[in-house]
Amino acid sequence: MNVGEEGYNTLAKYCPNCGSPGKPEALFCIQCGTAMGRERRCVKCQSAVPVGAKFCSNCGIQQE
Ligand SMILES: [Zn+2]
Ligand SMILES: [Zn+2]
Repeated sequence: MNVGEEGYNTLAKYCPNCGSPGKPEALFCIQCGTAMGRERRCVKCQSAVPVGAKFCSNCGIQQE
């Protein structure tokens, strides 16, 4: 999956865990209960990275 930057700037946001779409104001995923804040987890080190970030600020790994 190759989501461009604009994919993260739409009104809907997506669960960082399961990818389910949620309302912009939703705090938790309705499918798996994961927090739906403005952060997601690094694909490698699991540290929080802002939604739309291309690289992890902790380990530098490119985000999917
Ligand atoms: Zn989820
Ligand atoms: Zn990382």
